[in-house]
Amino acid sequence: MSDRARRHPRNVAGQYYVDTSCVQCRLCQDLAPGHFMQPPEEGSFVHRQPATEKEREICDMMLEYCPMGAIGNDGVVTSPPPPSPQIRTREV
Ligand code: SF4
Repeated sequence: MSDRARRHPRNVAGQYYVDTSCVQCRLCQDLAPGHFMQPPEEGSFVHRQPATEKEREICDMMLEYCPMGAIGNDGVVTSPPPPSPQIRTREV
């Protein structure tokens, strides 16, 4: 089971993380490269938190698939940033 106290230092802030028990099997990076990254000689970490329900489902799936149970969900849901204000241009 993942341990939030042993989070990989390169995880981005947010709900999902990888801890230092990762054995670098690359499964999460291969199946969900939009969220997990594993540089050579280094354990995986979350490089982008999910922003949609579908992306959360993908991260939850990786949490289940990880053979070491190294992927965690600390339950702290972070809202995606608000959309940028639309800039209206005048037609000429
Ligand atoms: S699936 Fe688990 S053990 Fe494999 S690279 Fe990802 S975090 Fe590490």
